[in-house]
Amino acid sequence: MTEMNATLPSDQTRGRANAVNEAACERMRPTEDEHVTSTADRAVDVLFLYSKDMNIYGDFGNLLTIRRRLALYGYDARLHFYNPGDDWPDHVDLILGGGGQDLGQKMICEDLSARADSLRSLVRAGTPALVVCGLYQLFGHFFESIDGTRMEGIGIFDAYTIGQADRLIGNVVEQSSQFGEIIGYENHSGQTFLEEGATPLGEVDRESMGNNGVDRTEGARAFNAIGTYLHGSLLPKNPLVADFLIRTAIERRYGRFAPKQIEEQRRELQLLDDLAQRARSVAAHRPR
Ligand code: GLN
Repeated sequence: MTEMNATLPSDQTRGRANAVNEAACERMRPTEDEHVTSTADRAVDVLFLYSKDMNIYGDFGNLLTIRRRLALYGYDARLHFYNPGDDWPDHVDLILGGGGQDLGQKMICEDLSARADSLRSLVRAGTPALVVCGLYQLFGHFFESIDGTRMEGIGIFDAYTIGQADRLIGNVVEQSSQFGEIIGYENHSGQTFLEEGATPLGEVDRESMGNNGVDRTEGARAFNAIGTYLHGSLLPKNPLVADFLIRTAIERRYGRFAPKQIEEQRRELQLLDDLAQRARSVAAHRPR
């Protein structure tokens, strides 16, 4: 126990990290006007879960990517940052959530259990979701951290996680039947094991660790929800995953995906995809 506490970030450090996350969210909070003027028939409600405590290793970049790509397809992202004690949004089209240290998970897991029914019904109804590392673990059945603390999960993924001393850290390349090659970065103490019949997101190459460093699976899939250990952030380098989340959200809300773009938007989207391609080839050849 003592040893664990020694490595835990102090409240001051955690306070600073939260302040940084909060400031970043504040800058993105739409002004009243923006909320009102966003064209109702092109709005997409994006829920960013636990933006203060579950938001590390660039996970915020997933939200930036979703917001920018939606705009480039001619849709309006309505962002909802949710932290314990906040009101739950009336409408959710897409769920995002990042990773966090064990302490951060302890801070939010009670509230997550209180929101479990809402999240389970959203996901089981087909709402697309991307949860990374710490939240991926808590979207499973439980996470038992290295100090023996058992945090109950919400059971969207048929999986459980056990913390262990040797962290699984490094660049990751995995093959996914749905998205092809997925590239990112992992840093976790938890080893996640999928139950019989559960579907992984993909399979890691020989160097990478993935869920547990043993069975070469990485992440999990359930309905339109994606759980993964890949930080980085994930979506800027994996636009196919971003577009899957975006298309699914829009088709569910409006019946069909109908981009409304001017030439400039098409060009910027092409530029982003070209940049992603270059970043992928660099990342794929980076040493573990
Ligand atoms: N705290 C969890 C672990 O160590 C998750 C870490 C993370 O989100 N990067 O496994």
